[in-house]
Amino acid sequence: MEKKKLLEIRNLHVQYKTDEAIVHAVNGVDLCVDEGETLGLVGETGAGKTTTALTIMGLLPERVGQVTEGELYLNGVDVIHAPEGQLKMMRGATASMIFQDPMTSLNPVIPVGDQILEVLELHKKDKMSHSEMEARVDQILEMVGIPAARKTEYPHQFSGGMKQRVVIAIALACEPLLLLADEPTTALDVTIQAQVLEMMRTLKKELNTAMVLITHDLGVVARICDRVGIMYAGEVVEIGTVEDIYTGEKHHPYTTGLFGAIPDLTKKTRRLNPIDGLMPDPTRLPSGCKFHDRCPHCMEICKTAPPQDITEGSHTIKCHLYDKEVQK
Ligand code: SF4
Repeated sequence: MEKKKLLEIRNLHVQYKTDEAIVHAVNGVDLCVDEGETLGLVGETGAGKTTTALTIMGLLPERVGQVTEGELYLNGVDVIHAPEGQLKMMRGATASMIFQDPMTSLNPVIPVGDQILEVLELHKKDKMSHSEMEARVDQILEMVGIPAARKTEYPHQFSGGMKQRVVIAIALACEPLLLLADEPTTALDVTIQAQVLEMMRTLKKELNTAMVLITHDLGVVARICDRVGIMYAGEVVEIGTVEDIYTGEKHHPYTTGLFGAIPDLTKKTRRLNPIDGLMPDPTRLPSGCKFHDRCPHCMEICKTAPPQDITEGSHTIKCHLYDKEVQK
């Protein structure tokens, strides 16, 4: 049975307008996520991953951030044109977001249980009594591995890993259809990272929540995701299943560069192969392929003509190397 498309993004362009310049943060992103699916979004800082997630949530900074082109539908709702009231009811109920640093997500002067209750009161007051909501707070805390008895404690009484568990509990309290997790474990110790990721994977399965996982960590993606999108300079330059990206034969040169920068402990030489150069200035993007001044395979056409998506089965790469017309 074909799965329902939960999130559909077509040709999305997002800009930040400041007094000095226009930042071209997202430049023609096409993405879709099915019900229950996990999509990893990988790329360097400034690739447009977080801006894409904020646009999905309707949380672009007012007046500064602007969608200039494209379409974005979440569970059938046109997020770009929906009124703020509708977006407010969607956040937490249809889609929730987990940010990198739990301390910026939690209110330091409200007990954690009350912070979970707040979300339930906003979205479930027509369907649940107060005692049912209290029971749900206990249940979701236990699900994320925190004893319900600790619900009266304040964020500062929890460790970093426990705080992030509370944030995840808040995000999942209303069983959203989509969870956007923006570097959810970056601020945590490595051992705690593994525990939190394992917990997210289990909860996601139990609740059949779809997830967009934003990360720099290709190891995390391989463990958790069904599909992977590689972003560069506001574009998805390669997207496919985990198998396409990790074991496929064809890759975008940027993806090859990302994998080359991962330490391989099985090899004697532990020298990494970082990608030369830097991400282009988003206020002055280059013509043609945005990766051309860092690409070891750059051809003349790459400097002037933007590459189109080349799709084979589940795998799409935006690169002239795979364009049969260019290679003729
Ligand atoms: S289009 Fe050209 S410059 Fe861009 S990644 Fe492909 S080969 Fe490199």
